[in-house]
Amino acid sequence: MSRATCLFDGCRSAVIAIDENNIVSLPEGVYSQFKLLENRAEPGVRSSNSNFLVVPDVWDFDNVGVSRDIPSSLLGDLGDKEFAFDYGDSSWKIKKCLKYLICADCDKGPIGLICQIQDQANDKEKVMHLLSLRSLQIVGEN
Ligand SMILES: [Zn+2]
Repeated sequence: MSRATCLFDGCRSAVIAIDENNIVSLPEGVYSQFKLLENRAEPGVRSSNSNFLVVPDVWDFDNVGVSRDIPSSLLGDLGDKEFAFDYGDSSWKIKKCLKYLICADCDKGPIGLICQIQDQANDKEKVMHLLSLRSLQIVGEN
């Protein structure tokens, strides 16, 4: 199983073991909308670059920090922008982002989001961690 680690030299903290079954693809616009850290030059990054790891439980992380609330200037109104993805048996969309995920050791990031997401079939909502794999170094097998 590969692992995601902090990509900064001098840190490289383990963030999480990657469960491939929980990788989803989000629209590219998510990066600019939420000003997520990007690491385009990193050779280990997968070719499909808008991959996020869905993490239902914060305890699944080896280490992760949570920032204060996202400034409203960054949230704005999602308006017509739909950030939708398939996960499990459902199709979800991001309703609202609540907090940022950051590296627990060096505080760099954001490397992901804590979002309120909505099941498009029945409007049920839940809170989920979405970890940006492009914001991290991926090490290990594969
Ligand atoms: Zn770090």
